[in-house]
Amino acid sequence: MLNKYLTNFNYFYSQLKYRVFISLGLSLMVGVLDGFGLAMFIPLLQMVDKDAKPDSENFGGMKFLIEGLDKMGLGLTLQSVLMSILFFFILKGLMKFAQGYYNVLTQQLFIKKLRIDYVRKLGNFQFKSFANIDSGMVQNTLSGEVGRVSTAFKTYFSAVQAGILVGVYLVLAMITNFQFAALVAIGGGVSNLLYNRIYKKTKETSKRITKGGHAYQGLIIQKVAFFKYLKATGLMGKFFDKLKDSIEYIESSNKKIGFYNSLVVAVREPMVITVVVLIILVQVNIFSESIGAIVLSLLFFYRSLNALVELQNQWNNFLNVTGSLHNMIEFGKTLDGAQEGNGTREFKHLQEGIEFRDVSFSYEGRPVLNQVDLHIKSRSTVAFIGESGSGKTTLVNLIAGLYKTDRGEIFLDDIPIIELEKLSYHRRIGYITQEPVIFSDSIFNNITQWAPKTPQNIQKFWEALEKASIDKFISSLPDQEECLLGNNGIQVSGGQKQRLSIARELYKDIDILIMDEATSALDSETERIIKENIDSLKGQYTMIIVAHRLSTIKAADEIFLLDKGEIVASGDYKSLIEKSDQVRKMVELQEV
Ligand code: ADP
Repeated sequence: MLNKYLTNFNYFYSQLKYRVFISLGLSLMVGVLDGFGLAMFIPLLQMVDKDAKPDSENFGGMKFLIEGLDKMGLGLTLQSVLMSILFFFILKGLMKFAQGYYNVLTQQLFIKKLRIDYVRKLGNFQFKSFANIDSGMVQNTLSGEVGRVSTAFKTYFSAVQAGILVGVYLVLAMITNFQFAALVAIGGGVSNLLYNRIYKKTKETSKRITKGGHAYQGLIIQKVAFFKYLKATGLMGKFFDKLKDSIEYIESSNKKIGFYNSLVVAVREPMVITVVVLIILVQVNIFSESIGAIVLSLLFFYRSLNALVELQNQWNNFLNVTGSLHNMIEFGKTLDGAQEGNGTREFKHLQEGIEFRDVSFSYEGRPVLNQVDLHIKSRSTVAFIGESGSGKTTLVNLIAGLYKTDRGEIFLDDIPIIELEKLSYHRRIGYITQEPVIFSDSIFNNITQWAPKTPQNIQKFWEALEKASIDKFISSLPDQEECLLGNNGIQVSGGQKQRLSIARELYKDIDILIMDEATSALDSETERIIKENIDSLKGQYTMIIVAHRLSTIKAADEIFLLDKGEIVASGDYKSLIEKSDQVRKMVELQEV
């Protein structure tokens, strides 16, 4: 139970440290000053009756305030009482401003830190784990859910601050009249029982909203990503139904939460009044105390109950969004659990080559690569072929440093890949993936990766376009290199996208160029041009090609045939055809 409360507190504390305590300290000050100010109303009330002389009897333990006035030589006059009321409430006002503003500042800081922290951790998340993560959950958590966590932060601290006020008033009431304090505890305890039931319901419903949000975001992502397919195949309707279900699910949960909230707000006042009335009756009838003796304590008591109700309301608001907070904490743990390690040795250039020594790799216990040994000479062109699922992409991803081996080691020159400073290595890799990457930006920025538009860069840009055989197409566009690509830009064909992503890699200053079935979406004429370009790039980079069409890799220095995660044959094109029945069959099939 306590642990549960601490989890939330620790989470906030981990981001904000000492600031949490400043904020709580300010609340404490507000409560104390308010209490002192209130106490000074008692002599004022007593002065209403001209004959009665104000005395300190009704103050109980708070006598020191009156005695303080005496000590300062002010005495208990109308002026001195009014001045001290003013003094305490002005000070309380200042303190309250400081507290309110400090709360806003810490809330901003908290959310800013949280966002930056998570975005950074997501970028440093291991690719292997990323592949298994629900993208709807990631999107929902880092967009909509952040807002709800911000609310969770605000309401949590409002509740804690209200709790502090409850404590302060209780202590003041206790100092003034101990019996009252005992009754407050009982009254508070009883009302809490009622609230606890509602809390539990709210909390469950909140978790449901978060879950519904993930599903909704996931569906929207897919609806956008597969728009054309869904439309062409009549699946749009099915997606609409699924989306409608998830919208209805979320909104019915919201309705439920709204119901509980209305209940909490409505019950608030009658409950406070009931408790106060009951306690006055008990004090006067059972303990035969005069109303005068309990007025101050009653004031504190009333304030305390108000603070308690505020605490309950804020806690309920907190519970409304606690599902999001819980989700954020869990997501943080997931991210922390699979952060990329980093080496210290800077990668400059590939001199000798890449070497696999006895490398094995598996996905969740399912072996995909088995004891692979191979050597790729620097500036050579090698290709991996084999049936789909034989492990080509996985092997290339290992070279790209996206995965860690389970067994064995990969060396770049004589440095084990895990000892490399990651960024220095990744910067020297060009990767042309099966799905071309097109950013929603201008062609120039897409190719140069937001390089400044200097004459040299512009020249380099056009050279890269030419090498990728897309220069003529770009020249023919109205805005040329400033033309926008992506969702809000011009439509380019699959083949053009691939050529653009090839141009981007060629623009970079790289050592290793990886092409994963880069020619799969190209028509045969373009394929021929690209093949020529690959051939012309030969010797400039260490080129690693995952190929389906054997025609594009005829000129490769070495071709590795993969079968069920093992290299079963290697050699140049000619020798492989002679050596391997499997390769011969592949060639025959493709020629048909
Ligand atoms: P290829 O590129 O030769 O088609 P892959 O390297 O993509 O082969 O895949 C090799 C095997 O690993 C396949 O059986 C595939 O299903 C599996 N695999 C690939 N990626 C993952 C992943 N992220 N999680 C689990 N299994 C995977």
